[in-house]
Formats: sequence, structure tokens, C-alpha cells
Amino acid sequence: MTKNQSSMMERPLLISSILEHGAAQHATQEVVSRETHGTTVRHTYAQIARRVRKLANALRTLGLKEGDAVASIAWNNHRHLEAYYAVSGSGMVMHTCNPRLHPTQLAYILNHAEDQMVLFDSTFAPLVAAIAPQCPHVKHWVCLSDDEHLPSGQGSPTVVSYESLIATQADTFEWPEFDERTGAALCYTSGTTGNPKGVLYSHRAIVLNATTSGLPDVLGLSTREAILPVVPMFHINAWCIPYSAMLAGTKLVLPGPRLDGASLHELMESERVTISAGVPTIWMGLLQHVEQAGLRFTTMRRTCVGGSAMPRALIEKFNDVYGVEVRHGWGMTETTAIATLSNLSASDWELPAEQRHAIVARQGKVTSGIEIKVVDESGATLPRDGTSQGELMVRGHWIVERYYKAEETALVNGWFPTGDIATIDADGTMTIRDRTKDVIKSGGEWISSIDLENAVVAHPGVAMAAVIGIKHPKWDERPLLLVVRKPGQDFGKNEVLEFLSDRVAKWWMPEDVVFLETLPVGGTGKVQKNELRKQYGGLFTEALP
Ligand code: ADP
Repeated sequence: MTKNQSSMMERPLLISSILEHGAAQHATQEVVSRETHGTTVRHTYAQIARRVRKLANALRTLGLKEGDAVASIAWNNHRHLEAYYAVSGSGMVMHTCNPRLHPTQLAYILNHAEDQMVLFDSTFAPLVAAIAPQCPHVKHWVCLSDDEHLPSGQGSPTVVSYESLIATQADTFEWPEFDERTGAALCYTSGTTGNPKGVLYSHRAIVLNATTSGLPDVLGLSTREAILPVVPMFHINAWCIPYSAMLAGTKLVLPGPRLDGASLHELMESERVTISAGVPTIWMGLLQHVEQAGLRFTTMRRTCVGGSAMPRALIEKFNDVYGVEVRHGWGMTETTAIATLSNLSASDWELPAEQRHAIVARQGKVTSGIEIKVVDESGATLPRDGTSQGELMVRGHWIVERYYKAEETALVNGWFPTGDIATIDADGTMTIRDRTKDVIKSGGEWISSIDLENAVVAHPGVAMAAVIGIKHPKWDERPLLLVVRKPGQDFGKNEVLEFLSDRVAKWWMPEDVVFLETLPVGGTGKVQKNELRKQYGGLFTEALP
């Protein structure tokens, strides 16, 4: 044996091992799931694992084989969770689809992925009927229900129920062993610029992420916690919580289709949820409900937020009013799950609350296994001084190398260019300043739409706000502010501008303010700024004589 050969055995990092670990070591831990038609069902990990193995047998009986792709168009529920494990564990690819994609885009990605089977919630039966004729690869359409709740009048495809599919199957299954670099799950970017692009996650990437993300200062999972992933299982693998929870033996609470504040609060209380995870828009709805109804959180101690910037005002409210710690993370489809998290350093815990919240409002430090840097337009690395801003580059164990079926690498000198503009502090804390396509270029300087939005939502009467850059004849672009007022509020443009005047630089002040009833929000809970740009793009040039 030479020195560079270790003495260790090598076992592949496979998703099936997470399931079997969970089932054997945490057999009695629970998965609680709100069904699409309303009731709440509970299974132990051991029961879930038996159902997963039944599904794996069913997939094999139907003739699906390693490397085949199976799509899901589904809410967060136990059948979707079972599919995560049965499909990937069998060496097939679990392709989670965002149901809010335009049907043409959805059909495009089902065809691009060559999905053989589609598992869908009854909610999406009309969508399935609409896209089925355009998806010749799909041989099986399976509704995630029992026979009783099979949707009627679906239109074209023949649909079977999930329960009938697995009913007579054996609950034992010999999981295949294969290379850990094999594709396990597939997720497409939202396609705001051109057609969506697929990211095929490997077993290795997912297992490594699941192992790391449960650490105390990341999600902080253990057998004594109960986690509610509100972040959809079609949005970047629900940040890998379906894997990390089973690895850690954590109670998993899956909310189904009802994501309004009242339904979420009720579920958090009844299931004694201690940790939740989701995008800021979901938490805005939750806090509004809790405030209006005068409620508290009895058990919830921590919420992990990401997907878009978490406004400081919300961080303060969660912490100071409700005693819920906020952990603010950054990640993207290309990073499998969370890549950075605004966790406090040892010395930060002693700081006054205000300073701690300011740290949490940034996007934080990398989790172990990930590295970041910011570069200028020539690709040169910028200093970690908190002010030099450039494109954020990322590399690590669960970062994309190339898009699915792409011939060329997506990397630049070994790093993935994120399209986000960021700064990094000397201590490694990263702040997202904007997305390249959202940043407002005014008079040769950059205005951060995120910073402006955060300043506006601190106004007590503002429910939601978005800032977009609009073509301007003199300044190239100027910010337009779009505001949704809270119910019963009736203030105007001057009050908003007055409120902002001592919070942002003068030249950052929005050129105009438009009040709307709602903002367009996509399937992953983010404000669709491209829609707003389409509608208001010409505002300043049209307004001129
Ligand atoms: P899309 O937003 O295009 O649907 P993703 O869901 O992959 O695609 O989103 C990734 C992007 O979301 C990041 O590149 C970044 O711009 C934004 N993002 C994610 N988390 C945060 C955060 N905490 N703060 C600000 N922006 C964020």
C-alpha cells in the first residue's frame, strides 16, 4: 500500500441509504402530511419506508429502469416524499416540476427530460389534461391519491391512482448499488430568460448536502425537532429537507396545498413544529395573520428563509415580537439547496439585538463544502471588504457543473457564475446586492432594488413592495416602486417617499410610486419582476412630452 492510498473502505453515497437509515434508526419518528383533499395523515418512518419500497416495486413492474425519468407535479405531501426515495433509490431520476410554469414550458421540460411517468396531485388534473397531448414520452399518468379521490373528467390521459399502483406490491426491495455520481433528481430553472435549463443533481451531491445541512448552525436538526418545509418540494428539492430530516430523525410536517397564514399557523401549533423553512412572501402572509388574530407561536423557535431577500423589518418582528430566530440563506437551483446562511459567529451573539438583526439581514457565510468569491467584469477577484461589489461565483460539492444535456460546461475557470451581484465582508459574510438583471443602473451608478424594497417594507402599512428599473431618457434607468398596502391602509405616494427620505440616499429615491392590489408572485413565491417590467417598462418615457 502506498502512502496516498488510505486504509478506508469506500461505499457509494446513495439516497436509498438515507431512507434505510431513517427507517431503521428512527422507525417511530413521524411524517405528518396534509392531504390535497383536506385530512391530515400520519405515518412513522418505518411505514413510509415500506410504502417507498412498494412504489419501487411498482415502478419496476411497470418496466421502468435505471436512468429513466419520473416527473412530479405535486404539493409537499407524503406520497411526493415517497416518490423522492423510490425513484432516486431505484437509480431513476426524480424530476420535480413547478406547476406554475406556463403549460408550454411545462410540456417543454417534460419532453426535454424524457419523463416516462408523471405523478401529480389532483389539483393539477386540468393542467395534466392540457399538456398530455404534447408529451408523447409519458407512458403513465399517476394521481397522488387513492381511487376515491381520483379526479373525474380529466380529458386525455388514462390515469391510475397511486394507492392502487402500490397496493399489491411487496414492501421489501433490494436497492441497487451504483456510482454515487449518478443523476438522482432533476430540477429546471424558472426560465425567466429563455427556456428553462435543467440541473441534474447526483446522489453524492444530495447526500453530502443532507449530511451538512442538518448541523446545529445550519438547519439544526435532531430527533427532538419538528420541521415544516413550506418551501415546495419542486423548488430546489425543498432545500433538501426531505433528505436531511430523515437522516437526522426529525419529525417532518408536510403542509399540502394550503399555504395561507391561518392554515400554516394552525399546523405549526397542532403538530408542535419547532423549525420552518420558506420564502419571505410566505412569512409575510403568516405574520399578517398572526398579528391580526393576536396569536403567538407556542413551539416554533426558528425559521429558515431564502429564495429572495428577507426584509430586516420581518427579521426584527420574528425575533423581537415572537421570539422566533431567523436564519436567512441564499441558494439557487444550481446549488442543490442552501449554499450560504446568515448564522451568527460566536462573538456576534453578545451584540445588541439591532446589530444582530443587521447581520441576519445579509445572506451569510458559506456552509462547509462551498466556497464563494466576487469578481469584477474582467474576472479578477475583488477584495473581501464589504464594499467591492461584483458577480458572485460559487463552487463546491453540490454546485452545478453543466446544465442537463448541455455540451459545454457552465463554469468559468472552475467557478459557477451566479448572475447575482454581491459583496463579501472580511469575516466571509456575503450580501446579495441584486440580481444582474434586476439591478438599476442610474447615471452610471448601481441602485440595489433589494435594499430599496427592504427599506419600504419597514413602513408599518406596507404589505409588499417591489422595485424595478425603468428606462429613463436622462439617467438610463430609474427606480419605480410598486406597493401593496395592508388591508385598511390608505396612504399615498408622498407619505412613502417621506418615509424613505431618511432611509436611502437621495438619488436612490423612486422616480414614482404605483399602488397595486397584489404583486405577481411565481410558483416559488418570488415577485415576478419580469412581468412588472413588461407592464410598466415604458412608464417614464411615455410620461414625457
Ligand atoms: P429563480 O429565482 O430564477 O426562479 P432560483 O429559485 O434558482 O431561480 O433562485 C435563485 C436566485 O434567487 C438567486 O440567484 C438569487 O438571485 C435569489 N435569492 C435566493 N436567495 C436569496 C436571498 N436570501 N436574498 C436575495 N436573493 C436571493
